[in-house]
Amino acid sequence: MTGTMDVWATVEWGKPLEKIQQPIPEPKGKEVLIKVTHCGLCHSDLHFWEGHYDLGGGKKLYVKDRGVTLPVAMGHEILGDIAKAGPEAGEQPVGARRIVYPWLGCGNCRRCAQEEDNLCAAQKSLGIVQNGGFAEYVLVPEPRYLVDPGELDPAVACTFGCSGITTLNAVSKVMPLDPEEPIVLIGAGGLGLAAISMLQAYGHKTIISVDLGDDKLEAAKKAGATAVVNSTTADPAKDIMTAAGGPVLAVIDFVNISKTATMVQSILAKGAKWVQVGVMGGQVEISLVGMILKGTTILGNLTGDPKQLREVARLGREKKLPPLPVTKMPWDEVNQAMDLLGAGKVTGRLVLVKE
Ligand SMILES: [Zn+2]
Ligand SMILES: [Zn+2]
Repeated sequence: MTGTMDVWATVEWGKPLEKIQQPIPEPKGKEVLIKVTHCGLCHSDLHFWEGHYDLGGGKKLYVKDRGVTLPVAMGHEILGDIAKAGPEAGEQPVGARRIVYPWLGCGNCRRCAQEEDNLCAAQKSLGIVQNGGFAEYVLVPEPRYLVDPGELDPAVACTFGCSGITTLNAVSKVMPLDPEEPIVLIGAGGLGLAAISMLQAYGHKTIISVDLGDDKLEAAKKAGATAVVNSTTADPAKDIMTAAGGPVLAVIDFVNISKTATMVQSILAKGAKWVQVGVMGGQVEISLVGMILKGTTILGNLTGDPKQLREVARLGREKKLPPLPVTKMPWDEVNQAMDLLGAGKVTGRLVLVKE
């Protein structure tokens, strides 16, 4: 395959993406070239695009210090068709639809050997370090990073690459848990709603969704939350505990800012697990004795691994995963889509579709 492709690239941090032309990559060895048809838009795309993360206490983590050079195409919820495969990639049917695992590791370390690419110290993630789904074609290093979505709606299946595996990973961290034991999910955006689906897939019964928007909470109820709490009330911690019938054993915070983290500390039961997912930024003070006396476990959740992508796709194909609400937009309207997401005007997931 020769020629050039369209790339909606970040050319300058925080500036509108520009459509540039780049050569279509040529797959070598085990590599597989995917022609992008669907790409979900994620809050972390917005943080990356701004060029820095808020580490709390006035400190920032700059993306450019992490080996990222511009221009690069973001977009890590990638789904597309096999366009071409390298000579050592085995049988790769051209035109077949595949979900792409984006959180690529170095491929050489012990983490990568165990398929824990998301925890590799030398990540080469698609949509961050290398071109992702905002480019017309994406180069995948090995076929094991591709998963067949079967008959699933491709606009839903593309979201498995980030929101699907991140929520599966986060939910696995609080499991096993009695199905009646309340689980509190903070944030009812794309990930919060995906977590409700995931918990239902695993037969969990009591799910409390917390958000500051009534429209988001309405979506959470529709998705299957058993109770919702608006966090803009005078005492949201008390409202959550009322809904849960007391302090809670499991909290997954998809927002994860100083305010939500402080609130979480006041609702944890003895032996609780507190999973942190969101990258909105901030810091929190933790009583060390309090950690011991309560027997608290805090877990940071960094996306998910390729095994989890296969598991999410299996749940989806077997119709065990209620589909996440998605809003489709043309792939060429990526800047408008980012504006909508940044303004908090998106229910569920925004997915760019390339015809
Ligand atoms: Zn993401
Ligand atoms: Zn590695």
